[in-house]
Amino acid sequence: MQSKFIFVTGGVMSGLGKGVVTSSTAKLLQLAGYRVSCVKIDPYVNYDAGTMNPVAHGEVFVTDDGGECDMDIGNYERFIDTSMTKDHNITTGRIFLDVIRKEREGKYLGQCVQIIPHVTDAIKENLRHTAESEKLDIMVVECGGTVGDIESLPFLEALRQMQMEDGRSNTLFIHVTLAPVLDVVGEQKTKPTQHSVQELRRIGIQPDLLAVRCKMPLSPDASRKISLFASVDQKCVISCHDAPSIYKVPEVLESQGMLKAISERLLLKKSRPTWGDWKKIADSFSKYDGKVRIAVVGKYVTLPDSYVSVYHALSHAGAGIGKKVDVDWIDSERFENSHDKLAGLKDYDGILVPGGFGKRGSEGIIRTANFARENNIPYLGICFGFQLAIVAFARHVCGLAANSTELDADVKDPVVDFMPEQRNIHDMGGTMRLGGHDITVLPGTLAHRLYGSTVRRRHRHRYEFNLKYMDTISKAGLVMSAHSDSGRRMETLELPSHKFYFATQYHAEFSSRPGKPEQAFDAFVRAAARS
Ligand code: GLN
Repeated sequence: MQSKFIFVTGGVMSGLGKGVVTSSTAKLLQLAGYRVSCVKIDPYVNYDAGTMNPVAHGEVFVTDDGGECDMDIGNYERFIDTSMTKDHNITTGRIFLDVIRKEREGKYLGQCVQIIPHVTDAIKENLRHTAESEKLDIMVVECGGTVGDIESLPFLEALRQMQMEDGRSNTLFIHVTLAPVLDVVGEQKTKPTQHSVQELRRIGIQPDLLAVRCKMPLSPDASRKISLFASVDQKCVISCHDAPSIYKVPEVLESQGMLKAISERLLLKKSRPTWGDWKKIADSFSKYDGKVRIAVVGKYVTLPDSYVSVYHALSHAGAGIGKKVDVDWIDSERFENSHDKLAGLKDYDGILVPGGFGKRGSEGIIRTANFARENNIPYLGICFGFQLAIVAFARHVCGLAANSTELDADVKDPVVDFMPEQRNIHDMGGTMRLGGHDITVLPGTLAHRLYGSTVRRRHRHRYEFNLKYMDTISKAGLVMSAHSDSGRRMETLELPSHKFYFATQYHAEFSSRPGKPEQAFDAFVRAAARS
């Protein structure tokens, strides 16, 4: 069967939850028995998300094949529990680089290379190639940005062409809009939706289905009006009102006949979802019998989206044991100078230090890692949080003048150092140690109780534990409990004398799913709930 495509576009403004609509649509189709996957189009010129500041653009999500992707890929993976490759994130930069490379290779010899057809062809080829090579029944493609943006025009044009070429039974457009309520009047306003559909039509796309974001369910009146003005069947005007958790959105959509509407258009035979345990999992995110308070002490806390997978991994673990995880995002710079402020961390059931880069705030993180150790507060360190826990231990227990060479190039005891293969790399994009690596776990350790003897996890780093210090720190009681690359690289550390003190060089958060919390997060939240 030829792959079918569902295109999700956005109107009115950003931040409406297009990613959740995309993921939920894919989830419904998966529950109906189709082989589905998602692709995110990001119309920015960066080749990938790897070189962008997380505080401005949100977390960089790492795929198993080492892609540094937009954070929406994380949402897709969490919803449909499918590991995706870097091909699932297309940017303007990637497409242009492909086209320009081909031009230099002489593949377009004699031609004037243009946005249409060369760039649009490259976009179409990319999407079709991924769908075909993964033998997908349906690919759900989310086009980033808002209709009307200059940047997304070539992409929307390519999607429009795909509908022309593949036919209306093989392609479908979902447009996500907003029906705001103005406090004074109290009625849902449909004009923004009308305008954004007009904008879409102006470039030749008539949406088949509208997912209208609103606080309360869309009123029949508003839905009728939207249907009439947008020329979309009323049964295809889907209210996307607030749900108790994002994992409930597939049910919200399906309760209005979403799958049936899609199936009629795409001539799909299986139009009913088999929910399995999905509803139970989704419910576990709103039925709690207590809470766990976690302090996340990091560098990019002004935008919680910069640690979005960490947040979800914590919430998966909490939902698994019926506890709501309350997260406070704390800037590690607060702890740079004053010990008094650190004392406030005693109020938390657990402390998590996520990934990070560079000197600012690093002393505050080292203090935090030390504070958790000295006060027997459950601690989970990830990447930077692993490296700086080593620095804290080396300084305060082993008495070394320790640091990571990332933070002090001339330090006397470089307990964390540049990976040798990173020394001669000067480009910044895509050059870290990235993606999934197989890890060997030592028997008799906490890591072994969590994972068994092997596990594969994703990475994104340039520095690592310096093996020259293995003897010193081991004798002082810090256990390096897992390794990779034939023992050259340490992957987890633990302190057996502590209630729960565990850190990972890998990014455990990218492997967590609702109903299947990542093991280190699970154990951390359980330990925090006990404390
Ligand atoms: N800055 C550290 C490194 O490059 C840690 C990276 C991270 O936390 N992702 O190794």
